[in-house]
Amino acid sequence: MSRFAHVIEQSDPMLFAVAVLIAVVGATTSIRLFHRTLSTFGSQRAGWQFLAGITLGTSAWCTAFIGRAAVDAHGLPFDPQVAFYALALAVAASGLGLILAASRRIPLAPELGGLGLGLGAAASQMIGAGQGLHGLLPPASAAEAASLTAAVAAAVIGLSAAARLRPPKAFILGAVALVVSMIVFQFRSLGAPPAAAAGLAPEHVSIVVVVVAMAAVLVIGAGLATVVIDGRHRSETIRELRRLTLCDPLTGLSNRAAFNERIAADLVAADAAGDMLAVVCVDLDHFKEINDLRGHAAGDAALRKVGERLAAVTDAGAFAARIGGDEFMLLKRYRDPAMLAVFLDRLGATLAAPEVIDGFETSLAASVGVARFPLDGRDGETLVANADLAMYRAKASGRRRHCFYETRMDEAVRARRRLAGDLRTALDRSQFELRYQVQAAVSTSDVKGYEVLLRWRHPQLGYVPPSEFIPIAEETGLILPIGEWVLRRACAEAAKWQKPHRIAVNLSPVQFAHFDLPRLVHQVLLDTGLAPERLELEITESAIIADTGRALHILRQIKALGVTIAMDDFGTGYSSLETLRSFPFDKIKLDRSFMSEIGTSPQSRAIIRAVLSLGRSLSIPVLAEGVETEEQFDFLKTEGCDEAQGFLLGRPVPLEELFISVPNPEGAKIMRLSDYLRSGTAGQTRGG
Ligand code: C2E
Ligand code: CA
Ligand code: CA
Repeated sequence: MSRFAHVIEQSDPMLFAVAVLIAVVGATTSIRLFHRTLSTFGSQRAGWQFLAGITLGTSAWCTAFIGRAAVDAHGLPFDPQVAFYALALAVAASGLGLILAASRRIPLAPELGGLGLGLGAAASQMIGAGQGLHGLLPPASAAEAASLTAAVAAAVIGLSAAARLRPPKAFILGAVALVVSMIVFQFRSLGAPPAAAAGLAPEHVSIVVVVVAMAAVLVIGAGLATVVIDGRHRSETIRELRRLTLCDPLTGLSNRAAFNERIAADLVAADAAGDMLAVVCVDLDHFKEINDLRGHAAGDAALRKVGERLAAVTDAGAFAARIGGDEFMLLKRYRDPAMLAVFLDRLGATLAAPEVIDGFETSLAASVGVARFPLDGRDGETLVANADLAMYRAKASGRRRHCFYETRMDEAVRARRRLAGDLRTALDRSQFELRYQVQAAVSTSDVKGYEVLLRWRHPQLGYVPPSEFIPIAEETGLILPIGEWVLRRACAEAAKWQKPHRIAVNLSPVQFAHFDLPRLVHQVLLDTGLAPERLELEITESAIIADTGRALHILRQIKALGVTIAMDDFGTGYSSLETLRSFPFDKIKLDRSFMSEIGTSPQSRAIIRAVLSLGRSLSIPVLAEGVETEEQFDFLKTEGCDEAQGFLLGRPVPLEELFISVPNPEGAKIMRLSDYLRSGTAGQTRGG
């Protein structure tokens, strides 16, 4: 019979199981504690190192002690002093080994640490077994040498795995290796002679074993409890942090990041299940008013209320998020379109109810746009953009109903937005050009000046008419740099002409509302050297109506520079006599819509006569726009109109063509004008 079988036969399986249990729990806990030392610094790290060292050392010693008791229950050598040294050495070796293993500076630190730990623990076991108190002896047998080597190797592998792998591999492999290291050493006594030291009496063995086991439970338990509490605390912190990063603090709804995560997941799920997904964009109608008129606290309160209402309509298959400002997004999965209709009705109803905020009845009405997967788009970005477009249409329709995305209608908006994007770079890319249209005296056909008209040469679309891009430029504020460019360019060109013709530059109401305008005009005149009286600015009545007092103040400042001011498009807007009376305009430009009706509409003729006599009585000259036929021209002459402008006299042309290819109309009067232009200006008025 082999010695191994003999040992097995002699040993106490219960005690052996206890030893293994202590090894398993101790190793698992120590590895976890060790792992925390890897990710902490300073005193925290020292604390974790201390706990790890104590736990590992104690469990190694207890495993050895109880293991020995299991193997040799009848003559367990026990000397309290020896036991204390062995324990102290085990804890010290564990502590130092783990500290070394966690070092961030030494190469191969985990392996070196494992080596130190293994050797120290082996020494401790040999002391404990009464073999080495008076100097360590070399291994007494081949079995002892083999188990020693195996134990040290396992310790090296254990710490290496724990330090180099990621959890959970680091935990599992590290713990298994340490358990092996602690247990394999028990087999070294297989070839050893029976212990010679004084043994414990068998009746005392069980008492000592129980005490040792209890000590192990206390120490390992403390380490384990710390690991558990720390783990729970950390996962709570992480959960809280995650909640904070995905939550909108004001309304408690999800935020944009959470919405993006959710829509991606919902699209995948809806696609797999064959469901549809509605992406619903909700934008408050009166938020700006609430904010501006009643303060930010009221604005916040309104947003919170909307958040509550949206949360109330989001049932199982729905999701609500605030993605910025007063914009909310909802997601609703559905199979039957009737389900979506019910959902949208509920949404509409909940938003329609007024709310009392700070004692004021406040409307939380919102515009709602809906895009549906897969009908209106297959990816989140497209669906959100389309829901947004539909929302804008709902807002524009002003009926506080939801709008579904409709390719045809919303593409127009999309095209407009694309145009706005292109407009942003048009100035830098030199895509703007100027055209000049002649303005002439009606009685003599003398050239009086030129109106400057802007053209945008779009790289793909060709020439985009100003009626399309000027409103976009006004909406986006781009009209400010563009308008300045027009003014500067036109003045610079005109300053080079030999004949001091006047130029008329259009001003947008947006530019007009800009407080710097008088300074800008002054600066441009200085920079270009154009005489102020050669510059006329054309403004429409809408520029003045918004804030008459301020507008008139600015106009006076500009006029003080010597620049003249024309009232453009007269007869279309308010055409209020009050405006004409409150400011000394230098010219009234009669809108071109009246011209086309001269032949057919007596009313138009009457209005033209009225405006002409109004101009006479106020001593303001009148210019008629849009003169296309000689009949119109004759009428103006008969009625005593001062100036005219229109295709009959000349189309808007680039500067190069202005003096070369003048129009060649048949009528005699116009012939005089073109004669004048051809003969009088071709050589003279070109810049030199
Ligand atoms: P507007 O100031 O009323 O300019 C006169 C418009 O009438 C020009 O259109 C001109 O081409 C057109 N026109 C001239 N003669 C005739 C005619 O006999 N018959 C007809 N049917 N039309 C005629 P355009 O160049 O397309 O400009 C349209 C509008 O865009 C301008 O109306 C003006 O409000 C705006 N605009 C043009 N350039 C500028 C600019 O540099 N700045 C600003 N703010 N607005 C500009
Ligand atoms: Ca004009
Ligand atoms: Ca006009």
